[in-house]
Amino acid sequence: GYSEHYAVAGIISDTLPLVQHLLRKTAIAVEREDRALRPIMMNRTELQQVLVNLIVNAIHAMSQGGRLALRTFDSDMDGRPGVAIAVADTGTGMTPDVIGKIFDPFFTTKTREGTGLGLSISQMLVTRQGGKISVRSEPGRGTTFTIWMPEADEGA
Ligand code: ADP
Ligand code: MG
Repeated sequence: GYSEHYAVAGIISDTLPLVQHLLRKTAIAVEREDRALRPIMMNRTELQQVLVNLIVNAIHAMSQGGRLALRTFDSDMDGRPGVAIAVADTGTGMTPDVIGKIFDPFFTTKTREGTGLGLSISQMLVTRQGGKISVRSEPGRGTTFTIWMPEADEGA
């Protein structure tokens, strides 16, 4: 069907090879911590697309190299069980002013290769399947995007 339920660690493993050449080119070390036990329900290809968007943004923010951490863990949101996937970089970070606009379609700070659509599309894909996407960032230190998805219903 359109959505299936599955463990998230596998999808991260399937996604990393797609960006491996970029990670190697810019000397970025990847750390993983897979602690999520709950299955989620979201179209696999769409979650992969969201992860690629977040990872490519992280790579762009670490042009001098750095660390990319990918973590999954079980997490409740407003009392509902779910899974969080955190994508954290040690890159440029963002000012509050920029953070306020990043989910707007066509907002970009990139002079080349920026469509400004990655995050607005990612947010749409996540929220229409019942999830949430949030961000924490500090200029000069880095950025963490967290995707939260509800746990797959039993028997769904
Ligand atoms: P694009 O990558 O084409 O610019 P996005 O929607 O993916 O469009 O991102 C919008 C903007 O958000 C980027 O131009 C950048 O300013 C900011 N941004 C997104 N992710 C990060 C990140 N990990 N670190 C710093 N800035 C980021
Ligand atoms: Mg982008």
